[in-house]
Amino acid sequence: MCTTIFELKKKVIIIGSGFSSLSAACYLGKAGFDVSIYEKNLDFGGRARQFKEKGFTFDMGPSWYWMPDVFERFFNDFDKKSSDLYEIKKLNPAYRLIFDNESHLKIGDSIDEIVKSFEKIEKGSGKKLIKFLNESKDNYDLAVTDMLYKMPGKSIFELINTKTISKINLFVSNIKSQINKIFKNRKLRSALQFPVLFLGAKPSETPAFYNFMNYADFGLGTWQPKNGFYDVVKSMINIAKENGVKFYNNSPVDKIIVKNNTISGIIVKKLLIECDILISGADYSHTEQLLEKKYRQYSEKYWSNRTWAPSSLLFYIGLDKKINDLDHHNLFFDTDFDKHADEIYSNPKWPKSPLFYLNITSKTFNHTAPKGCENLFILIPIATDLDDNEKTREKYFDLVIKRIESKINQKIKNNIIYKRSYCIKEFKDDYNSFGGNAYGLANTLTQTAFLRPKLNSKKVKKLYFSGQLTVPGPGVPPAIVSGKLVSDLIIKDEVNF
Ligand SMILES: Cc1cc2nc3c(=O)[nH]c(=O)nc-3n(C[C@H](O)[C@H](O)[C@H](O)COP(=O)(O)OP(=O)(O)OC[C@H]3O[C@@H](n4cnc5c(N)ncnc54)[C@H](O)[C@@H]3O)c2cc1C
Repeated sequence: MCTTIFELKKKVIIIGSGFSSLSAACYLGKAGFDVSIYEKNLDFGGRARQFKEKGFTFDMGPSWYWMPDVFERFFNDFDKKSSDLYEIKKLNPAYRLIFDNESHLKIGDSIDEIVKSFEKIEKGSGKKLIKFLNESKDNYDLAVTDMLYKMPGKSIFELINTKTISKINLFVSNIKSQINKIFKNRKLRSALQFPVLFLGAKPSETPAFYNFMNYADFGLGTWQPKNGFYDVVKSMINIAKENGVKFYNNSPVDKIIVKNNTISGIIVKKLLIECDILISGADYSHTEQLLEKKYRQYSEKYWSNRTWAPSSLLFYIGLDKKINDLDHHNLFFDTDFDKHADEIYSNPKWPKSPLFYLNITSKTFNHTAPKGCENLFILIPIATDLDDNEKTREKYFDLVIKRIESKINQKIKNNIIYKRSYCIKEFKDDYNSFGGNAYGLANTLTQTAFLRPKLNSKKVKKLYFSGQLTVPGPGVPPAIVSGKLVSDLIIKDEVNF
């Protein structure tokens, strides 16, 4: 006998409205489940929310649109293309790396252009880059196109196949040493080590296999949706609604109710809301706190001992004039990267002389700032759980503004007409984030695939997790894949043949 899900109409509740929750909601809605999203904040989108002030538009979190194939694959599953949903532009230059001594390196929008830039800096490096990117593409095809969607992180065997076995050396060596062996110049090394920062750990602690991020960067390019990253959030919300998903904002889940070791419902503002299946896309560590202690899978010690992706000190700034010599994405690598990384991971403290990232979407799409103005988003990576106060934020604000002014040879401090800061306190208050982390658990060798927190609870039936603390890991494309993996698991568990 075959019972379809359409006859059952099981009730699924999803906690949170980040990318992983939205992705899971779309897939489960399409599969015929009765899906509702409960979000604690007023706005949907999680870390990818957006706000507008004084005519300036600011994406609050993600700004690097990489791996367009993952977005496309998601939309294709709903018979759509990203171009049906939003306008998007490939950036050229993709980004600019700013070094000390006034020098910089612009990364073009094609491998040919990038090879030429490399060759100008280090003779012979162009040829080496082509060889390196061939391996990187091979890893991308294996990891992202082939394996990622088939790896719910249940067992080590998901990782083992003839292709991965032939690459075992890339799992036990790290990306920093691999790059440093091939390239001598400091600028080129920085350019090639930068992409793995998205994975949340130091390049010296990230397996060399993750060099597929270099193909994502140089091979697939950096893109920008016309109205910002929030175009993607809006499109996913629309697809979810088309598939019957209901959305509730301002609805913090205070408790998860379990009966007979099985999910029974959630408590929102003292109200019990029952369900058959619960997925939490909220930070995993927080979700477990919503359960009675006996139902938690991981201890406080477990979470404290993880390698967390950094937190960030962020500034959203509206400027009443145009900036001269900068691009859409600018990485200020004008100080010592190793020292800063040490102050994030090994010896956590406020960094003495941090690297930082400056994004100006109005450089590409004018309408994201008023005429003649510019919107600046500044991100300083910092360790989690530091003492976060106004005085410290101001100190770093002055520091980065001075470094920007000195780089562009233009005063901007007195032209600031809008300013908002965001740091550890807000990451905790807004997202219930462990230690105020910005983007989850790092992808180190011991926190990869089946070694990450699981998609389903071993202690409570019908309880599932999605998002950047579980598989595959941090970043928007992995969060979208995470929603797909968890919904595949549920569909498999629930549909009886
Ligand atoms: C500053 C910053 C910059 C980034 N830059 C990039 C980038 O350039 N490119 C990229 O690909 N990725 C980037 N990322 C990472 C990316 O944004 C995240 O990995 C991704 O958005 C995480 O999605 P998620 O579904 O795991 O969860 P989240 O977006 O964290 O969503 C979780 C949701 O759960 C809600 N929630 C928490 N507790 C409760 C509760 N008790 N009840 C109800 N709701 C609750 C939260 O409010 C939130 O909406 C960045 C992140 C940050 C913070």
